[in-house]
Amino acid sequence: MFQKYFKRQEADDKTTETNINSTNSYLKFADDPEKAWSVVGSSQVFKEVKVACNEPKQEGHVRVVCISDTHNVPMLGTLENIPQGDILIHAGDFTKRGKIHEVEKFNKFLGSFDHPHKVVIAGNHDIGFHEESAQRLHHLNFVPEAEVKAVLTDCTYLQDSEVEILGLRIYGSPWTPVFYDWAFLKHRGDAINEIWKKIPKDVDILVTHGPPLGRGDVVNFGKTHAGCANLLDIVQNYVKPRYHIFGHIHEGYGCSSDGRTTFINASTCNHLYRPVNQPVVFDIEVNDRTLKNDDSE
Ligand SMILES: [Zn+2]
Repeated sequence: MFQKYFKRQEADDKTTETNINSTNSYLKFADDPEKAWSVVGSSQVFKEVKVACNEPKQEGHVRVVCISDTHNVPMLGTLENIPQGDILIHAGDFTKRGKIHEVEKFNKFLGSFDHPHKVVIAGNHDIGFHEESAQRLHHLNFVPEAEVKAVLTDCTYLQDSEVEILGLRIYGSPWTPVFYDWAFLKHRGDAINEIWKKIPKDVDILVTHGPPLGRGDVVNFGKTHAGCANLLDIVQNYVKPRYHIFGHIHEGYGCSSDGRTTFINASTCNHLYRPVNQPVVFDIEVNDRTLKNDDSE
């Protein structure tokens, strides 16, 4: 039974801030994440994210439960034990192809949990949510995007959009760097940066399907980084969310902090598409808005 959560780590030393903002010269290599990481990796701060067990929710906090990449296997293993919380967030790839019957199944799965708020974004596998890709892959016989989306009734669906829940600003985006022939893909560099530039500054929780460079983004094959350098830059130097939740790279499941933002790869499935990873649960304070503005730049 999963009963863990961890607390946000305070940015308690100024060197952290300096390091984060010291350079974005790695963006010259935005199309080559491994090379970009060789430039920026050594200046990145990794703070341990403390995990606490069996603690009751603290006063003035909202409990957030994160899952991702469930790929049509929601009723197996760990997901039978999704912990209670105020907001359930799914960071995309809830299906294998985004066909309407898969979405119906997922919506039913969402309905089996009584979290008062549920927030969902799509991922590259949820092709039916992206008309352009669905038409390109027409041999898979997708119904129109609007019909697929209409099936998803038991949550707030975000697609390059924002919602405010319990005083928290949550923004979601499904895009990832080009990888084979899937949905919501943009080329690394300027093309994907145009998407990231739409993310508002200071959202509390950012949900993207893919990871930023260097945070939960190492793929098993070749042990190389696959995260988005442009996303790392926007997150650390502009948006500065308190939490950044994503999935996509199943092998990257886990959490880290740069001293200001806690990064969570919440992939439920492992690289063999088995749902073995526990939901990630955290409590976020809502009554102290100064927390995220403590670096007044
Ligand atoms: Zn996936």
